[in-house]
Amino acid sequence: MQIDDILQVLPLFLNHSTAAVAIKDIDGRYLFANREFSQYAGKPWEEINGHFDPDFLPPERVQTLQAAEQSALTGMKGISCEEEFFRDGQTVFYISTHFPIFDECQHIIGKGVVAMDVTGQHRSRSDAEIALQAAEQMNAQLRLAVEVLEQLASTDRLTKAWNRRRFEEAVDGEIHRFHRYGHPISLMLLDIDHFKRVNDNYGHQEGDRVLKQVAECIFATIRKSDSLTRWGGEEFIILMPNTGLSYAGKLAERIRAHIAAQSFANIGSVTVSIGVAALQPDSSYEDWLDRADRAMYTAKSGGRNRVEVDATFSSAPSVDEHVEGHFVQLTWKNAFLSGNHLIDSQHQGLFRISNELLDAVLSGRPTDEVALVVSQLMADVVQHFKDEESILAGLSFPGLAGHASEHARLTAKAFELVEAFKVGTLSVGSLFQFLAYDVVTRHILGADRMYFPYTSA
Ligand code: GH3
Ligand code: MG
Ligand code: MG
Repeated sequence: MQIDDILQVLPLFLNHSTAAVAIKDIDGRYLFANREFSQYAGKPWEEINGHFDPDFLPPERVQTLQAAEQSALTGMKGISCEEEFFRDGQTVFYISTHFPIFDECQHIIGKGVVAMDVTGQHRSRSDAEIALQAAEQMNAQLRLAVEVLEQLASTDRLTKAWNRRRFEEAVDGEIHRFHRYGHPISLMLLDIDHFKRVNDNYGHQEGDRVLKQVAECIFATIRKSDSLTRWGGEEFIILMPNTGLSYAGKLAERIRAHIAAQSFANIGSVTVSIGVAALQPDSSYEDWLDRADRAMYTAKSGGRNRVEVDATFSSAPSVDEHVEGHFVQLTWKNAFLSGNHLIDSQHQGLFRISNELLDAVLSGRPTDEVALVVSQLMADVVQHFKDEESILAGLSFPGLAGHASEHARLTAKAFELVEAFKVGTLSVGSLFQFLAYDVVTRHILGADRMYFPYTSA
């Protein structure tokens, strides 16, 4: 994020302020000042813009301001100082606060000044505090501005897809995860067919509308963890973390069909050609893109409106294929309540931690982190089974023996699968499937209901 990007939205935030406000870049060059600041500086904006303090302020004021600014930068916080000078034949007093402007990574990207005219007011510590508070508020607003701008700067205005820069940042992390944890990752390169004809026949504006609608259609089809990037004119990339080649091919086919089935106002139908490729352990990022590109051209030359999956590594063993999509968050419903307080709160806790496990799996967290959530879930399950059995014994539930042996079966199987997951012979997806669905959901919604008449009595 460049500081001049901030300036585009800054007036929105600052022009209503009654204090004098100015923003400088990291070197001290003025980039923005509001009307009140011109008055405070005694110079019109033209003489401030692009200049430094010594260019338009008397040396003694420069000295005071720069001392405060320097402490603000070293202390990483707002610092106030008092000024007394002559203006229009009278002495005026100002309290000015100088503060660093941070980006979201806490790097200083500029400097700000908020100055308040306190002439005729009793100057006290509290004035300085008020000024400081104003500066802090201003800084919070600037941070917000930086966030908004960051968002704007990383998405394509027309399609709302990521731009290349954002893609390259994201793909870096994904490639790292691929090499470190072996999570599969695929991408598709999608190009609109005969798009030039759309422009030629209907005009550039209609062409833009098609681009927008195609992007909307892709957004509606891809999963939460996938991302859409506008790669070039009418070319898009869909990045699919945690997704192996064959599942990526299926998703590509779904997108192709979805777009082909759309109706585009004034134009009729539009088709796309898609090339799909998976990252491979011994090949580079460039090679990965290149394989997707070649697959896309094969789709073009094969007649367009087609998906081609890169076959270069088709003999490679498939890695842990796709862990998302089949899984959904578990939603607790009151109908699951048994009437026993301890059992119900434990059941709800198991739902919660299963969902945590799902999050860990879907966000591609490292195996050791996932293992931690798994251990917690297992510990809770064991404790819960134990408590449940003793409660049921107290209620003289006649099906207790059968229920307890079902608990034992589930526990033994779960521990076996956890071991397999830890040594790498079982995918995290399969483990999740068993723990969340077989142990937690199915058991609670099935076998447990048998004792409900006893616990709710
Ligand atoms: P193919 O099926 O082989 O991909 O044919 P094509 O016509 O889609 O491919 P070509 O690369 O020849 O033309 C792409 C066209 O996309 C040319 C360019 O004017 C148009 N284009 C690129 N960016 C934009 C844009 O932002 N808006 C509009 N309206 N058109 C664009
Ligand atoms: Mg093209
Ligand atoms: Mg094209």
